[in-house]
Amino acid sequence: MNSISTLFEKTYGHSPDICASAPGRVNLIGEHIDYSEGFVLPFAINDCTEVAIARTNDTVIKIASVQRKSEVLSIALSDISPALTGDWERYVLGVIWSLGITSGLEIIVDGKVPLGAGLSSSAALEASVATALNSLFSLGHDLPTLARLCQRAENVYVGMPCGIMDQSVSLMANKGSALLLDCRDLTTRNIAFDVASHGLELLIIDTQAHHELVDGGYAERRASCDEVVAQFNIISMRHLTMAQLDSKKAEISPTQYIRARHAVTEIARVMDAVVALEKSDFAELGKLINASHASLRDDYTVSCPELDCAVDAAIAAGALGARMVGGGFGGSAIALVKAENVADTKIEIQRAFEKAGYKAPRFFTSLPSQGARIL
Ligand code: ADP
Ligand code: MG
Repeated sequence: MNSISTLFEKTYGHSPDICASAPGRVNLIGEHIDYSEGFVLPFAINDCTEVAIARTNDTVIKIASVQRKSEVLSIALSDISPALTGDWERYVLGVIWSLGITSGLEIIVDGKVPLGAGLSSSAALEASVATALNSLFSLGHDLPTLARLCQRAENVYVGMPCGIMDQSVSLMANKGSALLLDCRDLTTRNIAFDVASHGLELLIIDTQAHHELVDGGYAERRASCDEVVAQFNIISMRHLTMAQLDSKKAEISPTQYIRARHAVTEIARVMDAVVALEKSDFAELGKLINASHASLRDDYTVSCPELDCAVDAAIAAGALGARMVGGGFGGSAIALVKAENVADTKIEIQRAFEKAGYKAPRFFTSLPSQGARIL
């Protein structure tokens, strides 16, 4: 029996009907462009959220999370609606709502993806629940459909206007590869990402900073993109070129211009990163990662002092490239580092944080891992 199954039994007094897991993710490159129908290049990390579920004959959803003291919350099926207030359980209820489940359920969640660290514990939670329910109720949804249903849960039920990347990679990633995801139609291509055999490691630095701006800041960036799209009368930022953008520079605000410049240049950087990876040109990949950070910091303005500090310290310590990942305003950064320099790089980053008076960062490394699965 797996551990999530044991936890379920301890909580509910009988065994579950199904168990599933789904990983968090790190995005190598392609930030803040999933909602612009762009291309992104994330990979699944080793850390997963596990869920165990049993169907019941009543009309109540019972939910507990190990990360929330395993306290069982009971919600009547008839109360499930985006209007219902609540806390973390809304991520789970959102998926139940989005998938149209009308049966009573008992659920326990155990998440190893650090919460709120920019490694997408929210998508891991949604994808694990969706994978379990899809199987338990024989819904037959394919992975792109499940990703869209999870996104709908987060957008409409939780109220977070996230793009489609996190849910897609949590569901569709493959071991050993980064996932080139076309956010327009959710087609994918596996791009081998084998840092280890090139003497490299991808260091993940959780700055442990969480600035309040997160939700409002994210929505504001999306709104800027929507305004530019309307101004240029195009379907999405994906259809914009730098030449077009420059030709109308005078007609849009300086803020709209730099937001759009990030989207256009970041999509190009993703395609260049794929070419670099196919040639195992990690020096070039590093340069693209650095350029992505500069664009997020200066044009999209979603970085923060802690993220900049982590990135600058990593580069000063010899990293090939470093950048913030995720929505920004806190959370994590990544650094592509020579394996023999990892220990020193961590020390340099720690020192820089100490000097600046920031809370100590946490470090992780992860190889590209498998997406969601039934356990
Ligand atoms: P990220 O996705 O980067 O971790 P988010 O703010 O998008 O950050 O999502 C984190 C939120 O997701 C948590 O605050 C919590 O509400 C919910 N969550 C994720 N995993 C769990 C879990 N294992 N147990 C309870 N809540 C969780
Ligand atoms: Mg999230």
